[in-house]
Amino acid sequence: MSGVDTVVLATHNAKKLAELRRLVAEAHAGLRVLGLDDVASYPEPAETEPTFEGNALLKARACVAATGLPALADDSGLAVDALNGMPGVRSARWAGPGASDAENLALLLRQTEDLPDDRRRARFVCAMALVLPGGAEHVIVRDMPGRLVREPRGANGFGYDPAFVADGRSVTNAELSPAEKDAISHRGKAVRAMVAHLRGLTGGAA
Ligand code: IMP
Repeated sequence: MSGVDTVVLATHNAKKLAELRRLVAEAHAGLRVLGLDDVASYPEPAETEPTFEGNALLKARACVAATGLPALADDSGLAVDALNGMPGVRSARWAGPGASDAENLALLLRQTEDLPDDRRRARFVCAMALVLPGGAEHVIVRDMPGRLVREPRGANGFGYDPAFVADGRSVTNAELSPAEKDAISHRGKAVRAMVAHLRGLTGGAA
């Protein structure tokens, strides 16, 4: 298989894009990373699949079809045990279509406010899909287990970060520095595993 020296990150979520760019650059300095602003615009697919893997593949395939370039897409979210894994694939639109991060977080906090401490388990999940112009596809799924707190804390990160404390930590994700979050996050783990896969495709030369 030929080497991969460029990937398009197929996301319009600015904060997620910033995390992905930082993570990929750190794991693979030689890789040219483009965002959707760097390529001609195309209609993004609706996230209609019931799984993170399915939606990540939808997004990466659409990007390859439109750009002809290798594409990396992530689909991610928060799965709360006591809500049977929800918001899950609906994390970005939990409070309705077009809802803000703050609205989604406020709704989740209301829905979970009565849960006792021992029923507040949750985990972030990230499915990362790589699709190449020749049709090869590879999906990696990683998670970050932890628990929900009742009062949001911290200003870093995005989404549900202010209400989530990862296992082994005492502060929320939004109180971690970007580097601290990257080291343990679902997205950080998935990107590092995907970069290892990419290096394998290029025979270790990249
Ligand atoms: P997606 O863009 O469809 O993958 O939606 C991802 C959604 O999941 C985001 O809008 C957030 O609500 C949530 N999410 C995913 N990863 C994180 C994270 O690292 N921190 C906080 N929220 C996240």
